[in-house]
Amino acid sequence: MSQKVRNLTPTEPDILGCPRCDLISRIGAVEIGQKAECPRCGYRLLGKSEYRADKLLAYSVTAVVLLIFALTLDFIQYDSSGLTQSMTLLDAAWQLSYFHEKLLAVIVLLTVILYPLLYLFSLIAVFVAIKARASALARYFLRLSSHVKPWLMVDVFLLGTLISLIKISGLANVQLKLGFWLFCGFVAFLLVTYYLVNTMNLWSVVGKQTKTLNNAKAGITAHEQGYKVCEVCHRLVSFGVSDCPCCGDDIDRHWWRSPQATLALIVAATLLLIPAHWLPIMETVRFGAAQPSTIIGGVIELWQSGDAPIAAIVFIASLVIPVAKILALVGLMALARWQTPQAVNHRLVLYKVTDWIGRWSMIDIFVVAILVALVRSGTVMSVYPGAAAIAFGAAVVLTMLAAMSFDTRLFWREAEK
Ligand SMILES: [Zn+2]
Ligand SMILES: [Zn+2]
Repeated sequence: MSQKVRNLTPTEPDILGCPRCDLISRIGAVEIGQKAECPRCGYRLLGKSEYRADKLLAYSVTAVVLLIFALTLDFIQYDSSGLTQSMTLLDAAWQLSYFHEKLLAVIVLLTVILYPLLYLFSLIAVFVAIKARASALARYFLRLSSHVKPWLMVDVFLLGTLISLIKISGLANVQLKLGFWLFCGFVAFLLVTYYLVNTMNLWSVVGKQTKTLNNAKAGITAHEQGYKVCEVCHRLVSFGVSDCPCCGDDIDRHWWRSPQATLALIVAATLLLIPAHWLPIMETVRFGAAQPSTIIGGVIELWQSGDAPIAAIVFIASLVIPVAKILALVGLMALARWQTPQAVNHRLVLYKVTDWIGRWSMIDIFVVAILVALVRSGTVMSVYPGAAAIAFGAAVVLTMLAAMSFDTRLFWREAEK
């Protein structure tokens, strides 16, 4: 079967561009288990692994089934002074929307449920379409899976759930229900699928045959030779062509990738961080008395109650990461003019860390979502979202967009001058 599939549309590329530094490389024969990296920045241009469609299809379907069951069953149960309440996973979004935090509800719904489902359905569709020899359909869904990939936050949500449990464990008896364990299973299968799917392998199978670019020279940037690099399949696309001939992706999709856009997003995120830390992120009402708490107030509370490691995680995720990320991006932009080739690699590491770490700042938003859903309208205690929640959620999304809008090719372009 695998041999048949590999022969569907053999589009083994011999020349590829690096989407990170724009350098063109000529790729020799890559055997299974081997990979081809960009000689300048180390970006993986192509990696061959065994074609494990049946295994990945089984993992994806299992993940979807586990999530569907997790959605219908109780997630966490909470007992306090004889009152028992339970929440489902969907309540984490619904309750925010009930308290007029619709935008936050949408963020939680998309990153924890809808995008992960869309990602898995896209992969299932890709494997089924390959079996049915429907290449156009496979290309569409493989592109879709690449587009939603950066927005999956199930692992962050799981850590947020554990922090919520620790926050509330001193005040009430909390039980993890079957829905929670099924969600853990879903996260495990999703992550395994995520790391095992070899997108470039799949593009070699379903990508459209592109004509050989005889005049493209390796060792020189695509830009200098009148080409753009497709970020989805790493093939070269001539200037003036808007859709990649191999994968069909819109090459100009990232028109907003510019220093101006990065700067605008950084300024907006910085402004939002002020109310995010100044105003209360949630309000706890106990015996009729309201206790608003800010992000830093929550950290201090965790610290005082003896949960130092958890306090440190929330402190790093909510305070250190957003500020460090903004400073790192500003620094990278400012230093881009004074590059030496040796410094480029250090800055590349800083950029990669900045880009990877940003999503973990969402922890506090997920903690609020879970506590609001779990501890609601009780006679003894209830939790409401505070005004800072939306400001903080928006700031995190904007810093993620700022990192995405950062044009890494600038490192080398400036260094060459
Ligand atoms: Zn490169
Ligand atoms: Zn492409």
